[in-house]
Amino acid sequence: AKYSIVDQDTCIACGACSETAPDIFDHNDSGFSFVKLDDNQGTAEIPDDLEYDLEDACDGCPTESIKVADTPFKKDSVEA
Ligand code: SF4
Repeated sequence: AKYSIVDQDTCIACGACSETAPDIFDHNDSGFSFVKLDDNQGTAEIPDDLEYDLEDACDGCPTESIKVADTPFKKDSVEA
């Protein structure tokens, strides 16, 4: 299983990830991206059929703000 979270401290609101993987990422009113499956908590398992999109979005993020891990992320942290 994969888990993901956006580090909003480094996200530059470019919009690439929500375009590449609209089923995983959305952006807030300020343009900053978040994982829409769990309101960017990093605790929701990414569905298997979206893992390719996740990888694509992660590779395409210019600031490496999309964190991916095999275990859920810790509360209020971008560390798994
Ligand atoms: Fe932010 Fe990266 Fe998504 Fe661009 S691709 S909106 S920098 S998380």
